[in-house]
Amino acid sequence: SIYLDNNATTALAPAALDAMLPYLSTEYANPSSASAAGVSVKKALGEARVAVAKLLGSSPAELIFTSGATESNHTAILGALSLTKGKRHLITSQVEHPSVLLMCQHLERLGIEVSYLPVDEEGRLDLEDLRVALRPDTALVSLMWANNETGVLFPVIEAAAMAHDAGAFFHTDATQALGKLSVNAAASGVDFLSCSAHKIHGPKGVGALFVRKGIALPPLFHGHQERGRRGGTENVPAIAGFAAAARLLTNIEAEAHYLRELRDHFEQGLLAFMPCARIHGQEAERLPNTSNVGFIALDGEELLYRLEQEGITAAAGAACAAGGQEPSHVLTAMGFSKTAVLSSLRFSFGRQNRSEDVERLLRVLPGILLGMMDMPPVKAG
Ligand code: PMP
Repeated sequence: SIYLDNNATTALAPAALDAMLPYLSTEYANPSSASAAGVSVKKALGEARVAVAKLLGSSPAELIFTSGATESNHTAILGALSLTKGKRHLITSQVEHPSVLLMCQHLERLGIEVSYLPVDEEGRLDLEDLRVALRPDTALVSLMWANNETGVLFPVIEAAAMAHDAGAFFHTDATQALGKLSVNAAASGVDFLSCSAHKIHGPKGVGALFVRKGIALPPLFHGHQERGRRGGTENVPAIAGFAAAARLLTNIEAEAHYLRELRDHFEQGLLAFMPCARIHGQEAERLPNTSNVGFIALDGEELLYRLEQEGITAAAGAACAAGGQEPSHVLTAMGFSKTAVLSSLRFSFGRQNRSEDVERLLRVLPGILLGMMDMPPVKAG
């Protein structure tokens, strides 16, 4: 089967699995324990932190291990609010991941004001909108580095500088950017950066939060681990797997080049037989691996099902939004009609994909699409 849903999650790298196994069996000591076994596990934890910090372009001390990007996002947002007591305003965008948007909605119910910046029809953010939204009581600006549904990039470096000029902290959810383009947390100027292991061929349930040196971000989970910044016994096996996955990313440029070739091969092939297909965010700067395609009024769910029958896995919107059948908030924010949104699929390529996978997809797709042409258009009601 052909897996083209790498933005939802990626296959665990064999090296990551190997790195995890000892900590799931013999090396089970608690890293906080003073025993020799504990000290040895603690050392492994330190080495893992160095490896992930290297990938993130941070110092190891700036990195907190978490249970994933959701927790990292929540830690940054709530932490920034409690650091800036009295400031009651947040800025984010309409196209963030639900882990950011739902937290912001929760905070609105608690009396925090949130500004949700719009995007244009290519999914791009206008920094002028950020400039206008910033206020003296803005505690934090949280903008994703790369969108999980469209791959469209936000100008986080410029946005971080603008937030700082206005006296606000800046957080970025770099979950989708990590491993696909060069992400340097320290050089980017951001205060907080979230990421997750399972998007870079590491295990699920582990991620990291970069916290710029000198910022005493209050924890979400209180306890003595992670130097008091994240309580709870460390998920050592997962962290070891995360580090192994990070170590595999020695050449991001080569990785990005490989993914871009697959993606561009697909898009060119698709447009050759279906010139009216719409590639969302095509005019914007995008991740190299993501293709979000509007199939003019065809039923996206049906198309997804027919691809699955051929052993090809794509996605309708994001994994986190699917199931609920809610049309993508990202494409909706880009101004697309409900019909257009429901006829869109995401193809996200990964390291294991081969050009033969793209060729197979391009071979089966025309037949499937032709077979669907005389179906009634997708119901938007
Ligand atoms: N942010 C983005 C942009 C994501 O794509 C995801 C994963 N879908 C998350 C956050 C959540 O990550 P995790 O599953 O590690 O909580």
